[in-house]
Amino acid sequence: MAGSPALRKELGVFAGYHSAQVDVDVRLNTNESPFPPPPAFLAGLADAVASMALHRYPDRSCTDLRADLARLHGVRPDQVFVANGSNEVLQCLLLAYGGPGRTAAVFEPTYAMHGTIARMTGTTELKGERSDDFSLSLAEVRGVVRRGAPSVTFLCSPNNPTGRAEPRELVEGVLALGPGLLVVDEAYAQFAPWTALSLVADEVPLVVTRTYSKTWSMAGCRLGYLIGPASIVTDLWDVAALPYHVDTVKQAAGRLALRYTDEMENRVAHLVAERERVAAALGRLPVDTWPSDANFLLLRPRSRPGSEVWQDLVDRSVLVRDCSSWPRLAGCLRVTIGTTAENDAFLAALEDVL
Ligand code: PMP
Repeated sequence: MAGSPALRKELGVFAGYHSAQVDVDVRLNTNESPFPPPPAFLAGLADAVASMALHRYPDRSCTDLRADLARLHGVRPDQVFVANGSNEVLQCLLLAYGGPGRTAAVFEPTYAMHGTIARMTGTTELKGERSDDFSLSLAEVRGVVRRGAPSVTFLCSPNNPTGRAEPRELVEGVLALGPGLLVVDEAYAQFAPWTALSLVADEVPLVVTRTYSKTWSMAGCRLGYLIGPASIVTDLWDVAALPYHVDTVKQAAGRLALRYTDEMENRVAHLVAERERVAAALGRLPVDTWPSDANFLLLRPRSRPGSEVWQDLVDRSVLVRDCSSWPRLAGCLRVTIGTTAENDAFLAALEDVL
Protein backbone atom coordinates (compact mmCIF):
# COMPACT_ATOMS: atom_id res chain seq x y z
CA MET A 1 0.00 0.00 0.00
CA ALA A 2 1.42 3.36 -0.98
CA GLY A 3 0.54 6.71 0.62
CA SER A 4 -1.97 7.41 3.36
CA PRO A 5 -5.61 6.37 3.08
CA ALA A 6 -8.05 9.01 1.84
CA LEU A 7 -10.02 10.83 4.52
CA ARG A 8 -13.78 10.51 4.44
CA LYS A 9 -14.86 13.28 2.05
CA GLU A 10 -16.95 15.24 4.54
CA LEU A 11 -14.07 15.34 7.04
CA GLY A 12 -11.64 16.97 4.66
CA VAL A 13 -13.55 20.23 4.62
CA PHE A 14 -12.93 21.40 8.16
CA ALA A 15 -9.80 22.00 10.10
CA GLY A 16 -11.05 21.06 13.57
CA TYR A 17 -11.61 23.24 16.59
CA HIS A 18 -8.35 24.13 18.20
CA SER A 19 -7.39 27.03 20.36
CA ALA A 20 -3.76 28.10 20.22
CA GLN A 21 -1.74 26.62 23.11
CA VAL A 22 0.84 29.37 23.45
CA ASP A 23 3.21 29.78 26.38
CA VAL A 24 2.05 33.05 27.97
CA ASP A 25 1.65 34.46 31.48
CA VAL A 26 -2.10 35.09 31.25
CA ARG A 27 -4.21 32.37 29.58
CA LEU A 28 -7.76 33.53 29.02
CA ASN A 29 -8.62 31.59 25.87
CA THR A 30 -10.40 28.35 26.79
CA ASN A 31 -12.90 29.28 29.53
CA GLU A 32 -11.27 27.10 32.16
CA SER A 33 -11.39 27.96 35.85
CA PRO A 34 -8.43 30.16 36.75
CA PHE A 35 -8.23 28.41 40.14
CA PRO A 36 -6.68 24.98 40.70
CA PRO A 37 -8.83 22.48 42.62
CA PRO A 38 -8.77 22.85 46.45
CA PRO A 39 -5.62 21.31 48.05
CA ALA A 40 -7.80 18.96 50.13
CA PHE A 41 -9.34 17.61 46.91
CA LEU A 42 -5.89 16.85 45.47
CA ALA A 43 -4.78 15.20 48.70
CA GLY A 44 -7.98 13.13 48.81
CA LEU A 45 -7.50 12.06 45.21
CA ALA A 46 -3.89 11.05 45.85
CA ASP A 47 -5.05 8.93 48.81
CA ALA A 48 -7.78 7.32 46.72
CA VAL A 49 -5.34 6.51 43.90
CA ALA A 50 -2.89 4.94 46.36
CA SER A 51 -5.35 2.15 47.15
CA MET A 52 -6.95 1.74 43.75
CA ALA A 53 -7.06 -1.63 41.99
CA LEU A 54 -5.70 -0.24 38.75
CA HIS A 55 -4.98 -3.71 37.36
CA ARG A 56 -8.77 -4.15 37.09
CA TYR A 57 -11.09 -2.46 34.60
CA PRO A 58 -13.19 0.36 36.05
CA ASP A 59 -16.83 0.04 37.05
CA ARG A 60 -18.25 0.10 33.57
CA SER A 61 -21.54 1.68 34.64
CA CYS A 62 -19.96 4.39 36.84
CA THR A 63 -22.50 3.41 39.49
CA ASP A 64 -21.29 5.51 42.41
CA LEU A 65 -20.46 8.61 40.37
CA ARG A 66 -23.88 8.53 38.73
CA ALA A 67 -25.56 8.08 42.12
CA ASP A 68 -23.70 11.13 43.46
CA LEU A 69 -24.54 13.25 40.41
CA ALA A 70 -28.17 12.15 40.62
CA ARG A 71 -28.27 13.28 44.26
CA LEU A 72 -26.69 16.61 43.33
CA HIS A 73 -29.35 17.31 40.72
CA GLY A 74 -32.36 15.63 42.33
CA VAL A 75 -32.79 13.02 39.57
CA ARG A 76 -32.42 9.23 39.40
CA PRO A 77 -29.05 7.56 38.64
CA ASP A 78 -30.54 5.96 35.53
CA GLN A 79 -31.07 9.50 34.18
CA VAL A 80 -27.31 10.25 34.27
CA PHE A 81 -24.82 9.40 31.52
CA VAL A 82 -21.09 10.08 32.03
CA ALA A 83 -18.22 10.43 29.55
CA ASN A 84 -14.76 11.91 28.99
CA GLY A 85 -15.74 15.56 28.85
CA SER A 86 -19.04 16.90 27.64
CA ASN A 87 -17.68 16.83 24.08
CA GLU A 88 -17.66 13.05 24.31
CA VAL A 89 -21.21 13.14 25.70
CA LEU A 90 -22.21 15.14 22.60
CA GLN A 91 -20.38 12.70 20.35
CA CYS A 92 -22.19 9.75 21.95
CA LEU A 93 -25.52 11.52 21.38
CA LEU A 94 -24.79 12.01 17.70
CA LEU A 95 -23.45 8.46 17.30
CA ALA A 96 -26.74 7.20 18.69
CA TYR A 97 -29.27 9.65 17.22
CA GLY A 98 -27.46 11.31 14.30
CA GLY A 99 -25.55 9.66 11.47
CA PRO A 100 -25.94 9.36 7.71
CA GLY A 101 -29.33 10.48 6.39
CA ARG A 102 -30.08 12.47 9.56
CA THR A 103 -29.66 16.13 10.43
CA ALA A 104 -28.65 18.14 13.49
CA ALA A 105 -29.75 21.78 13.87
CA VAL A 106 -27.36 24.44 15.17
CA PHE A 107 -27.91 28.18 15.44
CA GLU A 108 -24.92 30.34 14.49
CA PRO A 109 -22.90 31.76 15.97
CA THR A 110 -22.61 29.01 18.55
CA TYR A 111 -20.23 26.39 19.94
CA ALA A 112 -18.36 25.14 16.89
CA MET A 113 -18.04 21.58 18.17
CA HIS A 114 -21.76 20.93 17.76
CA GLY A 115 -21.39 21.20 13.98
CA THR A 116 -17.97 19.57 13.95
CA ILE A 117 -19.14 16.50 15.88
CA ALA A 118 -22.16 16.31 13.60
CA ARG A 119 -19.87 16.08 10.58
CA MET A 120 -17.54 13.63 12.33
CA THR A 121 -20.49 11.30 12.87
CA GLY A 122 -21.80 11.68 9.31
CA THR A 123 -24.74 13.81 10.45
CA THR A 124 -25.79 16.65 8.14
CA GLU A 125 -25.62 20.05 9.76
CA LEU A 126 -28.74 22.18 9.48
CA LYS A 127 -27.90 25.81 10.13
CA GLY A 128 -30.14 28.46 11.57
CA GLU A 129 -29.15 32.01 12.44
CA ARG A 130 -29.27 34.08 15.58
CA SER A 131 -30.52 37.66 15.29
CA ASP A 132 -28.17 40.64 15.00
CA ASP A 133 -27.97 40.92 18.81
CA PHE A 134 -27.23 37.15 18.94
CA SER A 135 -30.54 36.27 20.56
CA LEU A 136 -32.45 33.35 19.04
CA SER A 137 -36.10 33.61 18.03
CA LEU A 138 -38.54 30.72 18.26
CA ALA A 139 -39.68 31.61 14.73
CA GLU A 140 -36.16 30.91 13.44
CA VAL A 141 -36.01 27.55 15.23
CA ARG A 142 -39.50 26.68 13.97
CA GLY A 143 -38.45 27.48 10.40
CA VAL A 144 -35.36 25.28 10.61
CA VAL A 145 -37.25 22.41 12.25
CA ARG A 146 -40.01 22.55 9.59
CA ARG A 147 -37.42 22.71 6.80
CA GLY A 148 -35.18 19.87 7.95
CA ALA A 149 -36.96 17.80 10.65
CA PRO A 150 -33.69 17.47 12.60
CA SER A 151 -33.10 14.32 14.64
CA VAL A 152 -31.15 16.48 17.08
CA THR A 153 -31.46 20.21 17.83
CA PHE A 154 -28.68 21.94 19.74
CA LEU A 155 -29.12 24.91 22.01
CA CYS A 156 -26.19 26.22 24.00
CA SER A 157 -27.15 28.01 27.19
CA PRO A 158 -25.27 30.18 27.98
CA ASN A 159 -24.22 30.33 24.36
CA ASN A 160 -20.53 30.08 23.59
CA PRO A 161 -19.11 32.46 22.38
CA THR A 162 -21.82 35.12 22.55
CA GLY A 163 -22.55 34.72 26.28
CA ARG A 164 -26.29 34.87 26.94
CA ALA A 165 -28.40 32.04 28.41
CA GLU A 166 -31.46 31.09 26.35
CA PRO A 167 -34.69 32.19 28.04
CA ARG A 168 -36.83 29.44 29.54
CA GLU A 169 -39.73 30.29 27.18
CA LEU A 170 -37.50 29.61 24.18
CA VAL A 171 -36.40 26.20 25.47
CA GLU A 172 -40.02 25.28 26.25
CA GLY A 173 -41.11 26.55 22.85
CA VAL A 174 -38.47 24.48 21.04
CA LEU A 175 -39.48 21.39 23.02
CA ALA A 176 -43.07 21.88 21.92
CA LEU A 177 -41.95 21.76 18.26
CA GLY A 178 -40.93 18.06 18.67
CA PRO A 179 -40.34 15.29 17.74
CA GLY A 180 -36.50 15.28 17.59
CA LEU A 181 -34.13 15.29 20.55
CA LEU A 182 -33.33 18.68 22.09
CA VAL A 183 -29.82 18.97 23.53
CA VAL A 184 -29.25 21.94 25.83
CA ASP A 185 -25.50 22.31 26.29
CA GLU A 186 -25.08 23.84 29.74
CA ALA A 187 -21.29 23.83 30.00
CA TYR A 188 -21.54 27.26 31.69
CA ALA A 189 -24.81 26.80 33.60
CA GLN A 190 -23.42 27.59 37.04
CA PHE A 191 -22.75 31.18 35.94
CA ALA A 192 -26.28 31.64 34.56
CA PRO A 193 -29.57 32.69 36.17
CA TRP A 194 -31.50 29.49 35.30
CA THR A 195 -31.05 25.90 34.10
CA ALA A 196 -33.15 23.67 31.86
CA LEU A 197 -32.62 20.75 34.27
CA SER A 198 -36.09 21.27 35.75
CA LEU A 199 -37.60 20.45 32.33
CA VAL A 200 -35.98 16.99 32.19
CA ALA A 201 -38.41 14.07 32.53
CA ASP A 202 -38.52 10.52 31.17
CA GLU A 203 -41.25 11.33 28.66
CA VAL A 204 -39.61 14.56 27.39
CA PRO A 205 -37.04 14.34 24.52
CA LEU A 206 -34.60 16.70 26.26
CA VAL A 207 -31.08 16.15 27.57
CA VAL A 208 -28.98 18.71 29.44
CA THR A 209 -25.20 18.36 29.18
CA ARG A 210 -22.79 19.50 31.86
CA THR A 211 -19.02 19.51 32.38
CA TYR A 212 -16.47 19.39 35.18
CA SER A 213 -14.12 21.47 33.00
CA LYS A 214 -15.23 24.97 33.97
CA THR A 215 -16.65 25.58 37.45
CA TRP A 216 -15.21 22.38 38.95
CA SER A 217 -11.63 23.33 38.02
CA MET A 218 -11.11 19.94 36.38
CA ALA A 219 -10.55 20.60 32.67
CA GLY A 220 -7.45 18.36 32.87
CA CYS A 221 -9.58 15.42 34.05
CA ARG A 222 -11.92 15.33 31.02
CA LEU A 223 -15.23 14.55 32.69
CA GLY A 224 -18.72 15.50 31.56
CA TYR A 225 -22.23 14.12 31.83
CA LEU A 226 -25.84 14.54 30.81
CA ILE A 227 -29.14 14.42 32.60
CA GLY A 228 -32.02 13.09 30.51
CA PRO A 229 -34.66 10.40 30.06
CA ALA A 230 -33.62 6.94 31.29
CA SER A 231 -34.31 5.42 27.86
CA ILE A 232 -31.78 7.77 26.24
CA VAL A 233 -29.18 7.08 28.93
CA THR A 234 -29.64 3.33 28.32
CA ASP A 235 -29.26 3.83 24.55
CA LEU A 236 -26.03 5.76 25.02
CA TRP A 237 -24.60 3.15 27.31
CA ASP A 238 -25.63 0.34 24.94
CA VAL A 239 -24.61 1.68 21.54
CA ALA A 240 -22.41 4.78 21.79
CA ALA A 241 -19.99 4.42 24.69
CA LEU A 242 -16.97 2.14 24.40
CA PRO A 243 -16.61 -0.47 27.15
CA TYR A 244 -15.07 0.99 30.34
CA HIS A 245 -14.80 4.40 28.74
CA VAL A 246 -14.59 6.31 32.07
CA ASP A 247 -11.50 5.26 34.01
CA THR A 248 -11.33 4.49 37.73
CA VAL A 249 -9.25 7.57 38.65
CA LYS A 250 -11.69 9.88 36.92
CA GLN A 251 -14.71 8.29 38.54
CA ALA A 252 -13.12 8.84 41.96
CA ALA A 253 -12.14 12.42 41.07
CA GLY A 254 -15.65 13.20 39.92
CA ARG A 255 -17.13 11.95 43.19
CA LEU A 256 -14.58 13.69 45.35
CA ALA A 257 -15.14 17.05 43.64
CA LEU A 258 -18.78 17.03 44.67
CA ARG A 259 -17.68 17.31 48.33
CA TYR A 260 -16.44 20.82 47.53
CA THR A 261 -19.68 22.34 46.35
CA ASP A 262 -19.37 25.33 48.70
CA GLU A 263 -15.90 26.21 47.39
CA MET A 264 -17.18 25.84 43.86
CA GLU A 265 -20.09 28.16 44.50
CA ASN A 266 -17.80 30.76 46.10
CA ARG A 267 -15.56 30.67 43.06
CA VAL A 268 -18.52 31.05 40.73
CA ALA A 269 -19.74 34.08 42.72
CA HIS A 270 -16.26 35.59 42.55
CA LEU A 271 -16.01 35.03 38.78
CA VAL A 272 -19.47 36.49 38.19
CA ALA A 273 -18.46 39.63 40.13
CA GLU A 274 -15.21 39.81 38.13
CA ARG A 275 -17.15 39.36 34.89
CA GLU A 276 -19.27 42.40 35.69
CA ARG A 277 -16.17 44.40 36.65
CA VAL A 278 -14.39 43.49 33.39
CA ALA A 279 -17.55 44.22 31.38
CA ALA A 280 -17.79 47.68 32.98
CA ALA A 281 -14.10 48.35 32.25
CA LEU A 282 -14.54 47.26 28.62
CA GLY A 283 -17.42 49.72 28.40
CA ARG A 284 -14.86 52.51 28.87
CA LEU A 285 -12.67 51.27 25.96
CA PRO A 286 -13.30 51.54 22.19
CA VAL A 287 -14.78 48.04 21.90
CA ASP A 288 -18.27 46.63 21.35
CA THR A 289 -19.29 44.08 23.99
CA TRP A 290 -22.27 41.81 24.62
CA PRO A 291 -23.84 40.89 27.97
CA SER A 292 -22.76 37.51 29.34
CA ASP A 293 -24.27 34.88 31.67
CA ALA A 294 -21.06 32.80 31.48
CA ASN A 295 -17.40 33.04 32.53
CA PHE A 296 -16.33 34.83 29.35
CA LEU A 297 -17.08 38.00 27.40
CA LEU A 298 -17.26 38.59 23.66
CA LEU A 299 -15.77 41.86 22.46
CA ARG A 300 -15.02 43.60 19.18
CA PRO A 301 -12.36 46.32 18.99
CA ARG A 302 -13.75 49.23 17.00
CA SER A 303 -10.53 50.80 15.87
CA ARG A 304 -8.40 47.80 14.79
CA PRO A 305 -8.88 44.33 13.25
CA GLY A 306 -9.48 41.67 15.92
CA SER A 307 -6.69 39.37 14.73
CA GLU A 308 -4.12 42.18 15.02
CA VAL A 309 -5.32 43.01 18.51
CA TRP A 310 -5.09 39.28 19.36
CA GLN A 311 -1.45 39.15 18.24
CA ASP A 312 -0.57 42.35 20.09
CA LEU A 313 -2.09 40.85 23.26
CA VAL A 314 -0.05 37.66 22.77
CA ASP A 315 3.04 39.86 22.42
CA ARG A 316 2.14 41.23 25.87
CA SER A 317 1.80 37.65 27.17
CA VAL A 318 -2.01 37.67 27.27
CA LEU A 319 -3.83 34.95 25.31
CA VAL A 320 -7.52 35.36 24.42
CA ARG A 321 -9.59 33.52 21.81
CA ASP A 322 -9.46 34.89 18.29
CA CYS A 323 -12.99 34.46 16.93
CA SER A 324 -12.50 36.97 14.13
CA SER A 325 -12.71 34.36 11.36
CA TRP A 326 -15.78 32.56 12.78
CA PRO A 327 -19.20 32.93 11.12
CA ARG A 328 -20.88 36.26 11.97
CA LEU A 329 -18.06 37.23 14.37
CA ALA A 330 -15.78 39.32 12.15
CA GLY A 331 -13.34 41.26 14.30
CA CYS A 332 -14.39 39.56 17.55
CA LEU A 333 -12.34 38.22 20.44
CA ARG A 334 -13.50 36.20 23.44
CA VAL A 335 -11.90 36.63 26.83
CA THR A 336 -12.27 34.15 29.71
CA ILE A 337 -12.74 35.68 33.14
CA GLY A 338 -9.64 34.88 35.18
CA THR A 339 -8.31 35.88 38.58
CA THR A 340 -8.48 39.56 39.52
CA ALA A 341 -4.78 39.92 38.66
CA GLU A 342 -5.21 38.19 35.28
CA ASN A 343 -8.21 40.34 34.42
CA ASP A 344 -6.27 43.47 35.35
CA ALA A 345 -3.36 42.32 33.18
CA PHE A 346 -5.75 41.73 30.27
CA LEU A 347 -7.44 45.13 30.67
CA ALA A 348 -4.10 46.95 30.93
CA ALA A 349 -2.72 45.15 27.85
CA LEU A 350 -5.90 45.81 25.88
CA GLU A 351 -5.90 49.49 26.76
CA ASP A 352 -2.28 49.65 25.70
CA VAL A 353 -2.94 47.86 22.40
CA LEU A 354 -5.95 49.98 21.51
N1 PMP B 1 -19.87 22.82 25.45
C1 PMP B 1 -19.48 24.09 25.41
C2 PMP B 1 -20.50 25.12 25.11
C3 PMP B 1 -18.15 24.44 25.62
O1 PMP B 1 -17.77 25.72 25.53
C4 PMP B 1 -17.21 23.43 25.91
C5 PMP B 1 -15.76 23.74 26.19
N2 PMP B 1 -15.15 24.53 25.26
C6 PMP B 1 -17.66 22.12 25.92
C7 PMP B 1 -18.98 21.84 25.71
C8 PMP B 1 -16.72 20.97 26.11
O2 PMP B 1 -16.32 20.82 27.39
P1 PMP B 1 -15.59 19.52 27.90
O3 PMP B 1 -14.28 20.00 28.41
O4 PMP B 1 -16.48 19.00 28.97
O5 PMP B 1 -15.46 18.56 26.76
